[in-house]
Amino acid sequence: MSLSEFDLIGRYFAACGATRRDVLKGVGDDAALLRPPSGMELAVTQDTLVCGVHFFPDVDPVALGHKALAVNLSDLAAMGADPAWVTLGLTLPDTDEGWLQAFSHGFAALARASGVSLIGGDTTRGPLSLSVTAMGWVPAGQALRRDGARPGEGVWVSGTLGDAGLALRALQDGVEVSGLDYLRSRLERPQPRLALGKALRGIAGCAIDISDGLAADLGHILQASAVGAELNLSDIPCSQAVEDYVACTGDWSVPLASGDDYELCFTLAEDRSQDLQDLIRHMDCPVTHIGRITREPGLRLRQADGNLYTPQWTGFEHFDPHV
Ligand code: ADP
Ligand code: MG
Repeated sequence: MSLSEFDLIGRYFAACGATRRDVLKGVGDDAALLRPPSGMELAVTQDTLVCGVHFFPDVDPVALGHKALAVNLSDLAAMGADPAWVTLGLTLPDTDEGWLQAFSHGFAALARASGVSLIGGDTTRGPLSLSVTAMGWVPAGQALRRDGARPGEGVWVSGTLGDAGLALRALQDGVEVSGLDYLRSRLERPQPRLALGKALRGIAGCAIDISDGLAADLGHILQASAVGAELNLSDIPCSQAVEDYVACTGDWSVPLASGDDYELCFTLAEDRSQDLQDLIRHMDCPVTHIGRITREPGLRLRQADGNLYTPQWTGFEHFDPHV
């Protein structure tokens, strides 16, 4: 017998994630009832994952539950926000209990680890898709906006870039890579950089999370801030597999223009570098200085030999008037 909508919600999503005192009523009424703290601004974001577009139909549902939440928490991290509440819009073709159990398990584990409570949502029948709205808090005036970059600031990124992109090429196009298990975990189980985002409040000029590739996402910062940037290609942090791939093919599109990195890109006045190092000393989150913000608009990529690199991938000219 297939599960009713209310049984399904009660069984898998009624008590999902952290228990929070600011949730007066979560799942189970016409609307959630929340008590927002004073002196804080609310950051709200929504991301939808559609089967066949954003994930493979046979993806591990535990990983999918994790990722549906992780991509939203990554947006909150990029605002410097503390995550608090999420809602989940679930569209399901059927009620496969094994799938639901695994999906909710992956979702709940990351929610608990991040202190987030699932406070409501909507459940409908249709082609599989997952839409999450995440809400978090940031002290008034301290959010990391895209329009705060200033000429002379350093450009930084967390972690390594291109791992998820290379995993996709391996899985979709059969590109041969070493360490596919690691690359695949980076694609399917991104870790939102929440602690780094919070640490950057008050010291970073601006921040963005890298979901569409560094070139495109840094491009959003440059446009919003009306500035340019020059990056040193040899400073772009890459895992061994991505480094080997770039060395072998000369193709920088994997670390610079493929999606799903979910690392943070941020800018920082050069005299704040030591503050940053002090703040992240106890965090398991490497950060790398990759270039600087310029008055001249556009994004320039400097090769190790000093020459400019001209990307071949489409869409790049949008961000560089010189190409
Ligand atoms: P209504 O008909 O009043 O809109 P619903 O039947 O849609 O209520 O939902 C009942 C309760 O279950 C609500 O609290 C709603 O927020 C919650 N809910 C529905 N779907 C989900 C879901 N996928 N995840 C979490 N909570 C859900
Ligand atoms: Mg409803």
